Amino acid sequence: LRVVGDDAATTAIPNDLQAFWMPFTANRSFKARPRMVARAKDLYYYTPEGKQIIDGTAGLWCSSAGHSRQPIVEAIQKQAAELDFAPTFQFGHPKAFELASRIAALAPGDLDHVFFCNSGSEAADTALKMAIAYWHARGKASKTRLIGRERGYHGVGFGGITVGGIVANRRVYGSMLAGADHLPHTYNREKQAFSKGEPEWGAHLADELERIVALHDASTIAAVMVEPMAGSTGVLPPPVGYLKRLRELCDKHDILLIFDEVITGFGRLGAPFASERYGVIPDLMTFAKGVTNAAAPMGGVVARKHVHDAFMTGPDHVIELFHGYTYSAHPLACAAGLATLDLYRDEGLFERSKALEPVWADAIFSKLKGQAGVLDIRQLGLTAAIDIESWKDAPGKRAYVAMDKAFHDEGIMIRTSGDCLVVTPPFIITENDIAQIADKLSNVIASTA
Ligand code: PLP
Repeated sequence: LRVVGDDAATTAIPNDLQAFWMPFTANRSFKARPRMVARAKDLYYYTPEGKQIIDGTAGLWCSSAGHSRQPIVEAIQKQAAELDFAPTFQFGHPKAFELASRIAALAPGDLDHVFFCNSGSEAADTALKMAIAYWHARGKASKTRLIGRERGYHGVGFGGITVGGIVANRRVYGSMLAGADHLPHTYNREKQAFSKGEPEWGAHLADELERIVALHDASTIAAVMVEPMAGSTGVLPPPVGYLKRLRELCDKHDILLIFDEVITGFGRLGAPFASERYGVIPDLMTFAKGVTNAAAPMGGVVARKHVHDAFMTGPDHVIELFHGYTYSAHPLACAAGLATLDLYRDEGLFERSKALEPVWADAIFSKLKGQAGVLDIRQLGLTAAIDIESWKDAPGKRAYVAMDKAFHDEGIMIRTSGDCLVVTPPFIITENDIAQIADKLSNVIASTA
């Protein structure tokens, strides 16, 4: 180990960076010039050398209450000493039931039954399997086709990439992907550029479901899965009225609607879930990330009563759904989840996220709209994405360099998606922090011109 710096805030950096094959990372570039963080507290990361970095991305859209928050830390520590693990196949532990009830109470309508897993990807695959199994349980076993949307991201399991609409995540898996079809994405720069919040144009794109139904027949379709706001492909807010239209068409054709709320859940859009913001209740809803403030891995699916109840038939000693993970409802994650929901409530963080939305939008738009090289800005809740002009013959490189400069030169963590810069701060952010983030973004855009 190589120790950098000379005070208590420094950390040893390993000499070997080769063994760890990093996920969704340009490994060779990273290892040539690492962006390493060793500690975190509240809004900040700290490099091994002790340099402060603003967390402009809430980790990966997940540390919404800021980092290493004391009540969550203590809950995990206590739980590890009290009950480190218990199976939830045929056995149970109290906090799993308690957390499920809390999530069901937070979710709108009769989204009342919570199935736990460990990530957003597992949640997506779980929801898709539930949808198919639901129709099977109801005697409509031909309804197996899954409909996703272009530019959708639902994690990296085979189910998730089947309905997902990111070419790079799909193209090499060929026939391993199930026979899905896709709605068009909802982004059109000509019609929507520089919209704050939901764009006015685009609700009619939901009607494409009619064409898909006409092609495949509703008797073959199990579910439509979409993110209420597409996050990973650069913040695509739903057009006004789009989600309601999708709900109506799913009802008309007897197709389940699944919202992937892995990013939009737990306050990112100023409400517990996007389904509440939009007054549209899906049949199944996935969550992950913010449920534990990312202090322990957890994901899950919330099912409406009619979906859940369709499985509760047959002899009562027989397992109703042949699905689950060793770590479903892991005690450490449940303890973290309960402490996180308390913290969100006690600090009014969803309300804070809602109150800050106009401040956030104004700061980003007033600083960056009109700056040379800025092609579009999209924003929804406490998220923003800035499309920047690409360098000639090198798509994606400018944003990569901007992200690297942001970290090393400006002291801020941001994300990229193609030549798009994405910022999604924790909800504990202040107006002053927001102004700083806007300045730093402007600097990296200027310095990569
Ligand atoms: N679904 C959505 C909408 C996401 O944004 C993500 C991750 O960003 C996932 C699923 C996958 O989650 P995970 O990385 O926890 O598997």
